Amino acid sequence: MKILVTGGLGFIGSHTIIELIKNNHEVIIADNLINSKIEVLDKLCQITGIKPAFYQIDVTDEEKLTEIFENNKIDGVIHFAGLKSVGESVSKPLEYYYNNLVSTMVLSKVCIKYGVQKFVFSSSATVYGDQPSPLREDMELKKTTNPYGETKAMSERILTDTVNANKDFAVSLLRYFNPVGAHESGLLGEDPNGIPNNLMPFVSKVAKGQLKKLSIFGDDYETVDGTGVRDYIHVVDLAKGHVKAIEKLDSGVNIYNLGTGRGTSVLELINAFMKVNAVDVPYEIVGRRPGDIATCYADADKAEKELNWKAELGIEEMVRDAWKFEQQNV
Ligand code: NAD
Ligand code: UDP
Repeated sequence: MKILVTGGLGFIGSHTIIELIKNNHEVIIADNLINSKIEVLDKLCQITGIKPAFYQIDVTDEEKLTEIFENNKIDGVIHFAGLKSVGESVSKPLEYYYNNLVSTMVLSKVCIKYGVQKFVFSSSATVYGDQPSPLREDMELKKTTNPYGETKAMSERILTDTVNANKDFAVSLLRYFNPVGAHESGLLGEDPNGIPNNLMPFVSKVAKGQLKKLSIFGDDYETVDGTGVRDYIHVVDLAKGHVKAIEKLDSGVNIYNLGTGRGTSVLELINAFMKVNAVDVPYEIVGRRPGDIATCYADADKAEKELNWKAELGIEEMVRDAWKFEQQNV
């Protein structure tokens, strides 16, 4: 298939492009570089031997997007483009609602106009809100705690209504759990701007000595050791899930959790990082972070049954690859 990947130079998009190319798909990238670097394109070429067509456009720009569809016979889209920082979304709600919702609406509108049926969307486990894990796709969604989460919940609803009104349009809503790790080459990984908000990039920077110590947000949750439990998934496994999802997609609204089905606590993750990489990660326990929940992990059975996809890499590979990328690049 010829697949348009929006946000394709970002963390998850770039890893997905490698897997798409490995599976003989042709890739076109649309990215405005708001949170990525153009060098990623060369790295993709280094890894795959293929340099995908690249359009530096904003996906909210209908005219520029339409040009891509005019000039290419596209079979499907994977829509990664979006702003993703929870904290920033609280201080800049309009930017988040505008970017994440308008890009989704414009892209689906252009897809329908050009008869492109397959639309895969990057959603998030955050749409479940605070509910007991394991989280299943058929659970009712609960209010999310920030504008970023709302953009994902609203995008899911917009796409669902659009499918209901257009029988030749089909979407796959992929709810990611906690993507971490990096490509095994060490060339691609997660390189957030400024001080990281997420656990794994923060741990990597502490291990490297660029940040003094990690603050663990609470050790009084009802979990195995009191620290928060999440379902960390290796970004390469996540990428492979997208290939399966777009290859299978043929009609309707299809919702899949992409997680491992296993929970890991903050302390377990740090201890694995220190042991596997033989480095020290100084930390201190501080108060809970507002908006955090105790536990969040997937019921991953649906994707296994219907997509024949299952995460294969474990915490050891995740911490190993995250550290390799950090040492080589950041
Ligand atoms: P990322 O920031 O690394 O990648 C997003 C890419 O989209 C960047 O290259 C950015 O430049 C581009 N972009 C943003 N807005 C754009 C626009 N309007 N037009 C064109 N390009 C635009 O993020 P990521 O971690 O790769 O996440 C990809 C998607 O997955 C996002 O939609 C994110 O919300 C979602 N997601 C991420 C996580 C996570 O933990 N990383 C979890 C759940 C969902
Ligand atoms: N966390 C932490 N210190 C940090 C960043 C995160 O203790 O500097 C904890 C956080 O409270 C949560 C887990 O690590 O229990 C994962 O947090 P992250 O922000 O990576 O993902 P999310 O909260 O979106 O699941």
